[in-house]
Amino acid sequence: MFEPGRLETRELDLEEPGAGEVLVRMSAVGVCGTDLHSYKGEWDRPTPIVLGHEGAGVIEATGVGVAGVREGERVVLSWAPACGECGPCRRGRPAACGPLSAAIGRGTLLGGRTGLSLGGETVYRGTATGALAEHLVVAAPAAMPFGDSVPLEQAALLGCAALTGVGAVLNAARPEPGFTALVIGAGGVGQFVVQGARIAGATQILVVDPVEARREQAMALGATAVCEPEDLRDAVRELDAEGVDYAFDAVGAPATTKLALRWTRGGGTAVVVGLPAGSEQLELDPFEFSSREKTLTGTIYGSDDPAVALPRLLDLVAAGELELASLVGPSFGLDDADAAFRASLAGEPGRVLVTP
Ligand SMILES: [Zn+2]
Ligand SMILES: [Zn+2]
Repeated sequence: MFEPGRLETRELDLEEPGAGEVLVRMSAVGVCGTDLHSYKGEWDRPTPIVLGHEGAGVIEATGVGVAGVREGERVVLSWAPACGECGPCRRGRPAACGPLSAAIGRGTLLGGRTGLSLGGETVYRGTATGALAEHLVVAAPAAMPFGDSVPLEQAALLGCAALTGVGAVLNAARPEPGFTALVIGAGGVGQFVVQGARIAGATQILVVDPVEARREQAMALGATAVCEPEDLRDAVRELDAEGVDYAFDAVGAPATTKLALRWTRGGGTAVVVGLPAGSEQLELDPFEFSSREKTLTGTIYGSDDPAVALPRLLDLVAAGELELASLVGPSFGLDDADAAFRASLAGEPGRVLVTP
């Protein structure tokens, strides 16, 4: 991306994998909401930058001292390999890693370099990854082997949308079975929140989204009711006049976060899952907390270490509890990445993929 809204395919110079790094041949890359924020110019990022961070591919080479993965192994990318030293990393939450956040803001890898250039000029990396490419070099812990049970196109979704959406329920909200849930937004992450709620034993799952095809997809994945945004009040009241036990905002805009908090019952919990545009602020009614005892919390990357969470997701897929295949949306070649981004913005159901 040379400037917001302008994606072009160029041949870049890519450094060989150094010590502790691997070279991955990318097979499929999902277009995530994070990429769309950068594409729309809602986040301040250096350019030119290679976007993309949710993907799967095959290890083609390994640098010195790499032990965990071998050549030929199929891997899912993690955009949060632990630095291993800061507080969040020691607590098993590498997505909250301080050095990683700084690297994401600067458009580099965790170590501070990008290893990418065009005519001698630095090219930056989206979400400390830059997966929208035929090849990429990342730290070995960012390439998580996943075996042979899942096709590469489906596995790509595990790397961000599934970890984020399922983890929002199982790790951030941690509801007791028998709860009611509202899910705002049925894009890639939202559909995994729906599935997480079903897996966690929700009795009612109401999903609100303006796109009919996304609402239908949510019904197939475990939603018990769906509605358009303008019908949300009636739909919640029909479910329970008090509101829901847990509301998940898979959009992350201040307006949707307010809705999540509003339709949470007294004593219930609203969880912010999506990410807002860079300059957004959230204005809240303090009585929601003091008088109504609601909890508002948030989650990033499933509130877990991806290396720990991925095998659990694979177990859920193997048990037939987590559906991936029907969530694979249309796929585009690398030269058509711009069309892929526009399809995703247009509300195409399922995850739009770029298959380099
Ligand atoms: Zn993502
Ligand atoms: Zn760290």
